Amino acid sequence: MRTIEKRIIVYEYSTIWDLPAAEQKLLMASREAALNSYSPYSKFNVGAAVLLDNNEIITGNNQENAAFSESLCAERVALFYANSCYKDIPVRAIAVTASNSQGITHEPVKPCGSCRQALMETEVRFNQPVRIILEGRNKIQVFDGVDNLLPFAFKPDSLG
Ligand SMILES: [Zn+2]
Repeated sequence: MRTIEKRIIVYEYSTIWDLPAAEQKLLMASREAALNSYSPYSKFNVGAAVLLDNNEIITGNNQENAAFSESLCAERVALFYANSCYKDIPVRAIAVTASNSQGITHEPVKPCGSCRQALMETEVRFNQPVRIILEGRNKIQVFDGVDNLLPFAFKPDSLG
């Protein structure tokens, strides 16, 4: 038996103003996207903003459905939209903001497993890490690459 240890690194910031200007702008875009979410069932509004290597920002938000399983998360809406508009432009970063009736959530909301997998595919596709910026009222968490959210991921090389 041997033990394998994976190191996860999370950078935490107190406010949006502690981030570089480009990331402040990206978080502002995710906040705005959250306002336009279609979430009549959960009343949980999530916005995501994707920053591409050409400096375009593409946003998305959660889209719910009365048949719940047909809903889609903000992260994947933004990511797939970005990839469909700019199929050859790498994704540099994604910012995510969630709010409920009280405003922006206290803690940063983490992407679900499916979104983590989609982000991993994006990293593999463009052969570069995606910076993930998650906003909460109490703090902002930043992950340099999906490996910090999805260690031991299923990747193309898993197919053999
Ligand atoms: Zn998700």
